[in-house]
Amino acid sequence: MPTPRNATDTDIIAMLRDGYSNLRISRELRCDKVRVARLRTHLGLPQVAIQPLTLEQKWASKTRPVDGGHLEWTGERAKATGTPLMRYKEAGYSPAGIAFEQKHGRPPQGYVKAECDYPHCVAPDHVNDEAGRQQARQRVRAERGLGDVPARCVSGHDLAVHAKFESDGTAYCGLCKALDKRAQRDPSIPRPARRRLTSLEEAFNQHAEPIDGGHVRWIGSTSHTTPSVWFGGTTYSAYKVAFRLHHGRNPEGTVTSGCDVPHCVAGAHVEDRPMRERRQQEERQETQLDRLYAGIFGSAA
Ligand SMILES: [Zn+2]
Ligand SMILES: [Zn+2]
Ligand SMILES: [Zn+2]
Repeated sequence: MPTPRNATDTDIIAMLRDGYSNLRISRELRCDKVRVARLRTHLGLPQVAIQPLTLEQKWASKTRPVDGGHLEWTGERAKATGTPLMRYKEAGYSPAGIAFEQKHGRPPQGYVKAECDYPHCVAPDHVNDEAGRQQARQRVRAERGLGDVPARCVSGHDLAVHAKFESDGTAYCGLCKALDKRAQRDPSIPRPARRRLTSLEEAFNQHAEPIDGGHVRWIGSTSHTTPSVWFGGTTYSAYKVAFRLHHGRNPEGTVTSGCDVPHCVAGAHVEDRPMRERRQQEERQETQLDRLYAGIFGSAA
């Protein structure tokens, strides 16, 4: 419901003729009540009994536009947090929630808050609900190329259901977080039996299984065809982690497995781009030598 900042006489007269009270007109058009009263007298229109405000009108009467398109809440606030509050017909409402419903035409899902930098802004364009926030964060995740979310968290919860996203797009398990919170509130509830992974190396080793021939089989999840490690809300390539652990430096370019065991993550078997290029060049040279010898001694050589 956009409100004109400077009401014209025409606006006011239109509302006067529609039978609205001076108070309601002054609130809705954000103009001086005395000016409305003066126009009423001038037009010879009768006074109107004050009508109770609707929920939206009461909300609008407690907001004030601020530079930058923000909307300040001038009404009641929660003492401890400063969160805007509104009472209407003896019920409590969230002014941010009312703003959300104005913009989206549906009740919000989950907690509504402002996403702009103006504290507790209630501009309909600046607030979002939990569902909208999560969608926006998933877009951030996709833009940053953080990869697919694994099927399960470290506690085995289904992440298709429980994955949540931070504002930087990193993911975490919402169920684990909720269980942690509950345990914090009530110390009598035992903390979920779950080993917290403290390093990327630990997360990697959990899914790496040494097998014969110095190979290491990957038993964790894969993103597309790359073995992936899930740690601290981000997916890492297990090849890259194996490379870093083995060589003690960051790889250059993509890391792939250089041996013939599919998805082998043995540190000595993975290679970065320069290593791969060197190996391929050596293989080409060998092939050329083979041809050369074949030319001299026949293909049986
Ligand atoms: Zn704002
Ligand atoms: Zn979990
Ligand atoms: Zn291998």
